[in-house]
Amino acid sequence: MSDFPPQHILIVGAGVFGLSTALSLLHNPTYNGTRITIIDSSPTLPNPSGSSVDANRIVRADYAHKPYAQLALQAQELWRDRSENAWGGEGRYHEPGFVLTAVADQDAYLAGALANVRSLAQEDKRGRIDLRKIQELHGRDEIRRATGYEGVSGDHGYANFNSGWANAEACVAHALRRIRTEGGDRVNIRPHTRVQSLLVSAAAAMECMGVKLATGEQIHADLTVLAAGAWTPSLVDLQGRCLATGQTMAFLDITQEEQDAMGNRPTIINQSSGMFIIPPRDKLLKVARHGYGYRNPVKIPMQTLRPGAATSGDLEVSVPDVGVPIPLEAEEALRGALRELVPHMADRPFVRTRICWYCDTPTGDFLITYHPAYKHLFLATGGSGHGFKFFPVIGDKIVAAIEGKVEPELAEIWRWRSEDELKEVMRSQGGGEEFIACADGSRGGPKGMLLAEEMKRKRGPTERKPAVAKL
Ligand SMILES: Cc1cc2nc3c(=O)[nH]c(=O)nc-3n(C[C@H](O)[C@H](O)[C@H](O)COP(=O)(O)OP(=O)(O)OC[C@H]3O[C@@H](n4cnc5c(N)ncnc54)[C@H](O)[C@@H]3O)c2cc1C
Repeated sequence: MSDFPPQHILIVGAGVFGLSTALSLLHNPTYNGTRITIIDSSPTLPNPSGSSVDANRIVRADYAHKPYAQLALQAQELWRDRSENAWGGEGRYHEPGFVLTAVADQDAYLAGALANVRSLAQEDKRGRIDLRKIQELHGRDEIRRATGYEGVSGDHGYANFNSGWANAEACVAHALRRIRTEGGDRVNIRPHTRVQSLLVSAAAAMECMGVKLATGEQIHADLTVLAAGAWTPSLVDLQGRCLATGQTMAFLDITQEEQDAMGNRPTIINQSSGMFIIPPRDKLLKVARHGYGYRNPVKIPMQTLRPGAATSGDLEVSVPDVGVPIPLEAEEALRGALRELVPHMADRPFVRTRICWYCDTPTGDFLITYHPAYKHLFLATGGSGHGFKFFPVIGDKIVAAIEGKVEPELAEIWRWRSEDELKEVMRSQGGGEEFIACADGSRGGPKGMLLAEEMKRKRGPTERKPAVAKL
């Protein structure tokens, strides 16, 4: 960047990636003279349709890929600070544990995660992972005992009682509050502000000069950080590096007695099916799937995706569709998970369902790097269904990456991969060269589903349609 530090940084997206970046900039003296604008299309913030906002999100260092396990441990140290203004304060973080199960022969991720948390526990001089709280579970009875649920999912696994969950919506609200308080006049947060396209100079070396809004207004910036989650690939051509995939969840009302009984249980996820249950809060139980998801392809004009380039026609991009009911396939899968774990709740009405959108990359690695085609355009996205837990630390990494100073190991996994490398990743997953599903090894359930196709499957006349939250 010619004029560093930038005088004005524009952040598109007020989710984990955007807000964490803003906090990091505010805490970094290099940017004391920098103005920061955060814009989000949502009329209200926290954005109820954003993937950062939900009842709860799992916080775990249980990763088959060690750099994420290490980074999660750094984040966890901050989550565990329960003082009022800290990440874990005011009930934002809880640590009742995490149980990862699988069925035999589908447990590579589980084995890798267990090996990593164990070795982290042994290596960590500061005792942030207590080895005694990690227990291998050799059969269904041991799983049942570890979770406290009446039923079982998976046939073996492990429990890590060093892991927990965060109240996601409260965390986003907390970050917004801190940015407003700490940023003062330097920061401008604008909800209801939708980017239409990037603003690009006509010069040969294309330069991103900010954004053009749906209203026609232009916002100019020296650096634009695109952190628009699952919507990012519909704002600029990422050439197959990110894919919006719809993931399903449903909520059930439970009684106070059930809340008291289940509230302190660990999260349980069956890696082979992707189905999981997080401990309930406020008498609401969530059942969900960490799967390959639904694609929702639409045509977007090339001129939007590749501003400044001499192109015409459209590109097909999967985009989030919010406020739609979950397909029958998902309802059946969610009820199946309830039947396994809490059979007496399996037929209880869903009071709310939601399709929440991941911004998936082929490998499940984040995309935190400059866009190679546009100067001054930085990408902070590709959360791939696991970005939330890094809220307290990801902004520091993004700012370090903006300055070219992020640890080489992280720069390596978050880089803009070559076309050939991507094709090789896709081929190694056995599905041809087209990127249709993330294969980071943590996903379960059916692959390659299209939202429109699944929506066509009809419910029988007696089946109740689940209520949909208009999020
Ligand atoms: C169902 C589900 C379960 C998950 N579970 C976990 C978990 O247990 N643990 C974990 O660590 N992670 C989890 N994740 C992943 C994690 O929540 C995400 O990786 C993370 O929240 C992504 O944050 P983000 O800032 O990239 O996106 P978002 O939070 O979606 O923020 C992007 C923002 O950009 C805005 N935007 C989009 N387009 C425009 C535009 N044109 N103009 C202006 N603004 C725009 C949107 O309105 C949105 O608010 C889960 C995700 C989902 C969907």
